[in-house]
Amino acid sequence: MSIRISQIDKRYGRTRALEPIDLDIHDGELIGLLGPSGSGKTTLLRIVAGLEQADGGSIHFGDRDVTRVHVRDRRIGFVFQHYALFRHMTVFDNVAFGLTAMPRARRPSSGEIRGRVMQLLEMVRLQDFAQRFPAQLSGGQQQRVSLARALALQPDVLLLDEPFGALDAKVRQELRRWLRHLHEELHFTSLFVTHDQEEALELSDRVVVMSNGRVEQIATPDTLYRQPANQFVFEFLGDVNRLEGDVEDEVLTCGDARVAVPGVENGRQELLLRPHEIWLGEQPDARAHLPVSVTAVVPVGAEVRLELEADWLGEPWLATIGHAEFERLDVKRGKRLFAQPSRLHRFDTPRPQTLAPLATS
Ligand code: ADP
Ligand code: MG
Repeated sequence: MSIRISQIDKRYGRTRALEPIDLDIHDGELIGLLGPSGSGKTTLLRIVAGLEQADGGSIHFGDRDVTRVHVRDRRIGFVFQHYALFRHMTVFDNVAFGLTAMPRARRPSSGEIRGRVMQLLEMVRLQDFAQRFPAQLSGGQQQRVSLARALALQPDVLLLDEPFGALDAKVRQELRRWLRHLHEELHFTSLFVTHDQEEALELSDRVVVMSNGRVEQIATPDTLYRQPANQFVFEFLGDVNRLEGDVEDEVLTCGDARVAVPGVENGRQELLLRPHEIWLGEQPDARAHLPVSVTAVVPVGAEVRLELEADWLGEPWLATIGHAEFERLDVKRGKRLFAQPSRLHRFDTPRPQTLAPLATS
């Protein structure tokens, strides 16, 4: 089921929770709503659900205008952060609840209900837990029950609000895989809210980045990361280092540091770079003289994370380098090295700009 959100806005008293928002979601798409706390994600989700009325605008499911349609007639499944399972009911009864509560005329037979519930429990690998109560399950298992319950009525649209927010990292990772898998198998359309960029980038077909009730960018994870529309998106999607200084004749100077900035006009400028866009060497280079000291070393994972400090830096930089490089340079705390930016990003221009200082001669 496709969803068209047109000019939806919402105020709470004097708080503008949503500016007029437009968003087209394709049939079968998994869309992540990503943004900091208070950016309007839950408000938008609740309006799509029909749990909240917008002040203006319209919502269409396919060709059907559902703007004034009651939540129970929208064919929506929900999963919230807190599992909200019925504690006095077994897993089976929790998943069956929506079906057993249907008006008699539309209700499937008890045999059909049983079949459908067991099929869903199998899908979330909980068929052996049907007779347990929620308190006898782990958080991740309870959230899988919530997912099965939301899918029992075969919704056209699945809405999830920070569904994995209360779980630890490993379980969260596993549940993401579940969701992706169920989504592909059952072909519903999903809109899920998260403030976790990694989760949004991993799971979504497209991500909607929000801040202050506005949409900052709608794009595939890849485009979002490579071509952020503005500084907000760039900073929200990962760690960022800052380089601020005075530019003259395409060279930026800051204390005793300097770096070539081809094409940048004279004056005070702020440039940004990601941790993996810093190369380190024993010597400066004609294009970059950026002396730094290593103040912290975290050698866990695929890369080594280094904290770099210098007199000319306001805040320390974070750099990530490969283990081979780490060993070659014999990096230790207190080691003095020279940084070379492989890329620098600018957002105070009409269009975001990326420089590649090392690629120029
Ligand atoms: P998010 O889910 O991104 O954290 P919300 O949609 O919950 O953000 O909130 C957006 C803004 O609307 C916030 O400023 C929040 O304080 C406000 N808000 C949300 N719900 C209500 C409400 N029921 N009454 C008053 N203000 C609200
Ligand atoms: Mg919220």
